[in-house]
Amino acid sequence: MADAVVVGAGPNGLAGAIALARAGRRVSVLEGQATIGGGCRSAELTLPGFVHDTCSTVHALAIASPFLSTLPLATHGFEPVHPEAPLAHPFDDGTAVMLERSVDATARGLGADADAYRRLFGPLVHAAPTLFGDLLAPLRPPRHPLLMSRFGLDALRSASGLARSRFEEPRARALLAGCSAHSLLSLRAPVSAAFGMVLMLTAHAVGWPVARGGSQHLADALAGHLASLGGTVETGRVVESLDELGSAAPVLLDVTPKQLLALAGTRLPDRYRRALTRYRYGPGVFKLDWALDGPIPWTAPEAARAGTVHLGGTLEELVAAEQEVTDGRHAERPFVLLVQASSFDDTRAPPGKHSVWAYCHVPHGSTRDMTAAIEAQVERFAPGFRELIAARSAMDSAEVERRNPNCVGGDITGGLQDLRQLFTRPVARRVPYSTPLPGVFLCSSSTPPGGGVHGMSGYWAARAALRA
Ligand SMILES: Cc1cc2nc3c(=O)[nH]c(=O)nc-3n(C[C@H](O)[C@H](O)[C@H](O)COP(=O)(O)OP(=O)(O)OC[C@H]3O[C@@H](n4cnc5c(N)ncnc54)[C@H](O)[C@@H]3O)c2cc1C
Repeated sequence: MADAVVVGAGPNGLAGAIALARAGRRVSVLEGQATIGGGCRSAELTLPGFVHDTCSTVHALAIASPFLSTLPLATHGFEPVHPEAPLAHPFDDGTAVMLERSVDATARGLGADADAYRRLFGPLVHAAPTLFGDLLAPLRPPRHPLLMSRFGLDALRSASGLARSRFEEPRARALLAGCSAHSLLSLRAPVSAAFGMVLMLTAHAVGWPVARGGSQHLADALAGHLASLGGTVETGRVVESLDELGSAAPVLLDVTPKQLLALAGTRLPDRYRRALTRYRYGPGVFKLDWALDGPIPWTAPEAARAGTVHLGGTLEELVAAEQEVTDGRHAERPFVLLVQASSFDDTRAPPGKHSVWAYCHVPHGSTRDMTAAIEAQVERFAPGFRELIAARSAMDSAEVERRNPNCVGGDITGGLQDLRQLFTRPVARRVPYSTPLPGVFLCSSSTPPGGGVHGMSGYWAARAALRA
């Protein structure tokens, strides 16, 4: 009975389905995996009683999202839990620089760079909701051009260039570099600074919470809200061809270009098909989840106050490590992103125990085991960590893709987010969500605004479909 179909129950597929259902469509979501959520799922990957987020865990973008933030997700079981501080970035001297909720508190930890930090982020934080509206959208004339140009002049730069020009000391430089490394770009690449700036802005404006009980609760809340609007989700249903979907319209595809090529076969015109073939995927990730017998014994005690911990040392070290990955090599001392969610959400592990999530970047499609390299980085800033490991789960890039076909080669952002592909993903078109096939739209993170659990690709794709 559905008159609209969404393929894929990731955050974008579910957000798109909700937007269609709110417009009165009878929506059916078809998900290939046994569970919904795509990059927003949880599982007992190690031992009974330990909840691990298989992909995303920090939901700053969900809170900042102009669409998801309007939905009654709390009613359906999504509860953001905020750590005391969003982020710690430890150094070899036994201290850590902290990204705190307030700009001032952060600046106070930055010595000579305190004022420079206030100047960079202070004015932007006050206008953050407005800025998020422009940034989490397809390329269009900005609604607030002055604000966007203030942001854009810095954001279009490389993280390394911005850090060196704005800050004098290693602490502030490393803080910006670590946040910018979430881009999966070389930190010498233009626009890599944008990712760091946006994430730091979200830390100040909305915080970096995890979902109580695991990210699955966020996906389930989206599905719960969809159900309240009359939509349905079918799991275990891999769609292999658009022909399976009959005459339902619109069709929203929460898939990447590689899968669109397979789903649509020869129905796509040559020119569009060739453009999709040229779409570039980025580096992959190697992910570890640990069940620990106690909290991580950080040398810098303040690191225990943070939800996320960035491990890799100085700006120079981070630039070198991320460059190795960009050049197709494995970093000997990789930059590690770690989240100690159970320190703030006691539902994730048995009393006294901890469930911790971490990953590093690796070349596209890598199958190298990075366990020792990642654990050495944790041990570097928390001697004694290894003795606490009760169990671990490891996923190389191939395994990440096996669990979610959208993570092509282990790429977690739906395709490279460099200057050429950030705004024109997947193909340069006036409406990037549309395809040459009438009624068929792409809604995954391979469309603007790109990676992250914000649901905005789904929202904008649904808007485009409803207009069409
Ligand atoms: C290890 C890791 C850590 C991350 N950390 C964070 C984080 O902390 N914060 C954050 O905001 N983001 C994070 N991300 C990124 C985030 O998970 C993704 O950007 C987001 O999930 C993209 O949403 P999506 O809906 O576009 O695609 P996905 O979440 O990938 O969902 C796509 C869905 O479509 C289904 N599908 C695909 N093809 C078919 C088909 N043919 N038939 C049926 N179903 C199909 C898939 O099974 C999947 O469920 C992380 C990702 C990973 C992998």
